Amino acid sequence: TLKNRNAIVTGSTSGIGLAIARAFAKEGVNVTINGLGDPAAIEAERAGIEKEFGVKAYYSPADMTQPEEIRAMVKEAEEQRGGVDILVNNAGVQHVAPIEDFPIETWNLILAINLSAAFHAIAAAIPGMKSRKWGRIISTASAHSLVASPFKSAYVTAKHGLAGLTKTAALELATFGVTVNCISPGYVWTPLVEKQIPDTMEARHLTREQVINDVILAAQPTKQFVTADQVASLAVYLSTDAAAQITGANISIDGGWTAE
Ligand code: NAD
Repeated sequence: TLKNRNAIVTGSTSGIGLAIARAFAKEGVNVTINGLGDPAAIEAERAGIEKEFGVKAYYSPADMTQPEEIRAMVKEAEEQRGGVDILVNNAGVQHVAPIEDFPIETWNLILAINLSAAFHAIAAAIPGMKSRKWGRIISTASAHSLVASPFKSAYVTAKHGLAGLTKTAALELATFGVTVNCISPGYVWTPLVEKQIPDTMEARHLTREQVINDVILAAQPTKQFVTADQVASLAVYLSTDAAAQITGANISIDGGWTAE
């Protein structure tokens, strides 16, 4: 049972991260949520999780572009909230543009949030996990950690890197009861996907409907979106004892996308 474990889920004010935080809370895990957004809405979500699931829920405003804030978020949880048993590196952003037009600052931002943030959080969480001889590190990678799509250079690069970081950390922690894995979803209907539709329309000269059917769902043989709850269930499973020998894995949940 995961009851009374403590988790941090980065980028959990929206989409997949929020579904993961709620799924852990449902299992009795105390959760720290993190991410951007309207403070009142975030507080309502945090309080709602406590009320609905009877766990402790905290909010960390740590900005995933800021190494010191990320490490301080983990340190605070270690020192004041019973430690970090489960770390979910989920925060991520996307930008769609050809490489020759890709803004340098956007490249740096995506590498910072989608890749370096996980490095800093993992580095800060390792000592506590090692000392307790138990831990779960799960990162939300993407089908784009395994295959590429045009116009997503920074995202594809960061996600491939995240898969490499996952394998490396898994090897370093293999004898400490700490597993390290990533989950690679195909398209999940969240604000991240919705927001890239206009730029994809422009980059590929397509209508909104064409982008949804001919680009997004065309990638998935099932012709269906993955749901955030399905991704969350996998994260919960990876945290159970049944998954204790799954480490260094990159698990696809992509409607068959990367089978092609
Ligand atoms: P989303 O836009 O709904 O959520 C992203 C979260 O990250 C939000 O909580 C946001 O506030 C947070 N965030 C963004 N910048 C931040 C920063 N600087 N500091 C802290 N938090 C920050 O997107 P989503 O689709 O739920 O994406 C979650 C993860 O899943 C990302 O890593 C994404 O790459 C990955 N993913 C998404 C899909 C998809 O189809 N939606 C597919 C594969 C992988």
